[in-house]
Amino acid sequence: MSNLNTHWIRVSPLFARISNVPFLVLPVIWLAVAFTPATLMADSPASRPNVLIIVADDLGYSDVGFHGGKDIPTPHLDSLAAGGARLTNGYVSGPYCSPTRAGLLTGRYQQRFGHEFNPGGDSKGFGLPLTETTMANRLKEAGYATGLVGKWHLGSEPPYHPQRRGFDEFYGFYGGQHTYFDKGRAQIVRGTEKISEPEYLTKAIGREARSFVQKHRDAPFFLYLAFNAVHTPMEAEAETLATFATIDNRARQTYAAMLSAMDTEIGKLLQQLQDSKIDENTLIFFISDNGGPTMKGTTMNASVNAPLRGSKRTTLEGGIRVPFLVHWKGRIEPGTVFNHPVIQLDILPTALAAAGITIDPNWKLDGVDLLPFLSNPKSDTRPHETLYWRLGEQNAIRHGDWKLVQYDRNVEEHPTKGVTSPKLYHLATDIGESSDVAAQNPDKVAELRGLWEVWSHELAEPKWGP
Ligand code: CA
Repeated sequence: MSNLNTHWIRVSPLFARISNVPFLVLPVIWLAVAFTPATLMADSPASRPNVLIIVADDLGYSDVGFHGGKDIPTPHLDSLAAGGARLTNGYVSGPYCSPTRAGLLTGRYQQRFGHEFNPGGDSKGFGLPLTETTMANRLKEAGYATGLVGKWHLGSEPPYHPQRRGFDEFYGFYGGQHTYFDKGRAQIVRGTEKISEPEYLTKAIGREARSFVQKHRDAPFFLYLAFNAVHTPMEAEAETLATFATIDNRARQTYAAMLSAMDTEIGKLLQQLQDSKIDENTLIFFISDNGGPTMKGTTMNASVNAPLRGSKRTTLEGGIRVPFLVHWKGRIEPGTVFNHPVIQLDILPTALAAAGITIDPNWKLDGVDLLPFLSNPKSDTRPHETLYWRLGEQNAIRHGDWKLVQYDRNVEEHPTKGVTSPKLYHLATDIGESSDVAAQNPDKVAELRGLWEVWSHELAEPKWGP
């Protein structure tokens, strides 16, 4: 966008307010506004896009319509996919909630600063290490209004509070999961004050997101909208459940109602952006924080990852490859399908680049700006040749279309403790990781192992155990 257009966008609201000023005076006002010191320093705030990151929790890869899901309509997420880019090889940097959120908000592999695992039973002293700067810190410094609505899971003690990590506003909860109905056990806070929340939580989170957008519609904002849906506990409203009466499996029926409720709230928020006439100036991301938990455990939620194999908790594709959308009306071609691997660490540099913020190499980001790639999706150039995972003994590396993975044996039909020996899969021809070709390709195994070892040596010791 040219400087002239930039200034025009900045002053145009002013024109609306001063439309009764005699016409000849307007050019004088324009010059005065256009050359104030603030506008000479950088792009004016009003020319910068709003940034909206929507995160679902424990959503299955194929439970959304845009990935072929059939039994649970997700029309609003599908409209987001149709109007922007669908990234079919979208990854997160871990198979658990808290570590991937740490990666998302820093743009760095979370193992670089010891945030390798979810907090254990005693979460005292746990939180996103204070050495790290968040996306909210960076956008706030650039003049953005910043807000978190929903799940935090990056520390509940005062030093780790969202409002001390760059967010001006916070409505939500600190932990890894939350009940959807109050039942006297609610732990919802606004700022630092515990409040009572009578509404079904997914609806309340949607309401708060719309309120934030309404309040900040005239200024650039960063909203991190972190639904806890479709994480356990499995709780849906009776009215929504009734619309899925044809689903026989009760757990799947509840899951469908929970996902549908989230999709409805996303639809209302997209409508709010349109009504506020800022849908063109809002860059939207959608991801799940990890794959669907399909293996037995306390977070199992009736999600489906097929054709991917594996579950949340594992470094198989089912744990780390997720629904991933990027939408920017007027800037990303509707219906874009992007098949090269990307990772949630890319969201921060993409958002900062869109906001006109120069990335300092000293920040040591692992993510890259996706916008140039998304505007040329057929190019052979990949944002990443190699992606890495480490979660204690489990690990994985994707290099080109090859993946070497050591995963949790409990995902197998006849589980035994520990991890397997490394398996090699060719993902371009075997998305379901069904055919281990390690024995036939010892050189490829050695090459990938070597690359992973180099990366792993750069990492910190985990700050807390699994
Ligand atoms: Ca999760």
